[in-house]
Amino acid sequence: GHLPTAEVVQELVAEAHRRFAPVGEGQVADYIPALAAADPAHFGLCVSSCGGALFEAGEARVTFSIQSISKPFLFALICQAIGEEEAREKLGVNSTGLPFNSVLAVERSGDGLSNPMVNAGAIAATSLAPGASSEEKWAFIQDGFSRFAGRRLEIDAAVCASELATNRRNAGLATLLSDHDRIWWDPDEATELYTRQCSLSVTAADLAVMAATLANGGRQPITGEQVIEAIHCQHVLAVMVTAGLYETSGDWLYATGLPGKSGVAGGMITVAPGKGGLATYAPPLDEAGNSVRGQLTARFLSERLGLNLFASR
Ligand code: GLU
Repeated sequence: GHLPTAEVVQELVAEAHRRFAPVGEGQVADYIPALAAADPAHFGLCVSSCGGALFEAGEARVTFSIQSISKPFLFALICQAIGEEEAREKLGVNSTGLPFNSVLAVERSGDGLSNPMVNAGAIAATSLAPGASSEEKWAFIQDGFSRFAGRRLEIDAAVCASELATNRRNAGLATLLSDHDRIWWDPDEATELYTRQCSLSVTAADLAVMAATLANGGRQPITGEQVIEAIHCQHVLAVMVTAGLYETSGDWLYATGLPGKSGVAGGMITVAPGKGGLATYAPPLDEAGNSVRGQLTARFLSERLGLNLFASR
């Protein structure tokens, strides 16, 4: 299948913006102090087809920190680096049913496993980045993310400093992982690498193309680069389906029928395999930490563009 014609997609993107721009529910995240400075009125969306056509509305070129939307791309890079079976054995791929930063999730599994879409599994995944030093590991991560985006991605220094100063819970998760022998680098350095990666600065347009790369068998729609092998996309998308929106992943799948991933800065991606990627930016979040307008937009466009994976026709 394909997306509908360019005219139809552009009109539906514009309609989603008109419909949901007035929605005022949700709270901007403030547990990372720098995130509280976001403009709650900002609302940008972008659809990228697998052919690299972009359809935008609103603040699709405003930058924000990628936060947890980094998780599927990091997992993709780690699968590419160590193979999907080793990645599954080391990180786990089952939903925790618990909030993104849960310590209980690590303890309850009995073996320290979670999945790479929650903080514990993502910090463990970060520790698996190839490299003999944290600098080399960081270069691997930043280069890989930049290849997904098709441009050099840089850290938002203010967000990074703010999060590094307040990420004691993530440092605690990393320490707990080391007690379970589920982290493969110095826990504090792995936490710092994870935090840097979460503060990479992106736009909705960047994220749409990154999502479309996952929809397109790992081939970046604009640069044409094969960023990861096609086989890894299906594993990344599978984990996004079960855990991309944390404890509300079931509600998300029920509404959209698509893999998605949210981040606490207000970004969100949705992937329609073989068709394209949707990204939204709207900072106010629901209780689970997912963008309110992002979810409404994804649901609307999944229905109107005919993207639900479980639809018979
Ligand atoms: N960097 C954030 C954290 O670790 C990411 C959380 C999120 O986006 O859900 O708390």
